Amino acid sequence: MATIATQPQRTRVLGVPVHVCPDVLAAAIDLQRGGGGQIVTLNAEMTMAALADPALGAAIEAASLVIPDGSGVVWALGRQRLRVRRSPGIELAWSLLETAAQQGWRVALVGASAPVMDQLAARLKARLPALQLVFRAHGYQRPDAWPELERQLLASRPDLVLVALGVPRQETWIAAQGNRRRGLWMGVGGSFDVWAGVKQRAPGWMSSLQIEWLYRLLQEPQRWRRMLALPAFAWAVLKGG
Ligand code: UDP
Repeated sequence: MATIATQPQRTRVLGVPVHVCPDVLAAAIDLQRGGGGQIVTLNAEMTMAALADPALGAAIEAASLVIPDGSGVVWALGRQRLRVRRSPGIELAWSLLETAAQQGWRVALVGASAPVMDQLAARLKARLPALQLVFRAHGYQRPDAWPELERQLLASRPDLVLVALGVPRQETWIAAQGNRRRGLWMGVGGSFDVWAGVKQRAPGWMSSLQIEWLYRLLQEPQRWRRMLALPAFAWAVLKGG
């Protein structure tokens, strides 16, 4: 019989840590109340990337909460008799913004292009008027601009920092802030582009058929090389890694 977890439980898929928890939003809010930490949203592509990239692997290892975002990871957990629901990172991140607006959390946004960031800020103002946006910076800064940006970000004392720099950079950048960090820090990939209305998420029927990856590939054909990680992941799990 499959086990239904009632408490957050740390397990591993191909050696990469992942938490199984009944309610990821509740777990994230608990983490925020307990002083914060890094949240990672793990999918098959990222699992394979972590095996090949020690810096990414170390960032995930040190993260406080790793949520299963991706049907591949959910399937691999099912093979360990852990029945979990997929928790899309973009949905958790949005719920955290709503929580931030309700609780008066100070929010910082880092990443995406400058026009996307402008559009996102305007949309957030309209959709979550109570949100306290205390810092924002686009993700295409000159390399020498980052230290000052980091200083200003930390000085803004955020309770929630969403980072859209892509994998692995967003995870390793968050990890590199080390114990200077407080609050929740989470890598959100292409979420800012979706919220700004520049990119679309896959339709629900594609998600239920577990072919969201196909939609992504059709929208961004240049991703095909990265997506070769998906069959490699499936093969490694079937081999029992
Ligand atoms: N990005 C950025 N700076 C960079 C490279 C990427 O801010 O130097 C942003 C990009 O504009 C996009 C996000 O990072 O908003 C990455 O989105 P993607 O969907 O590629 O994320 P991934 O699949 O890597 O998680």
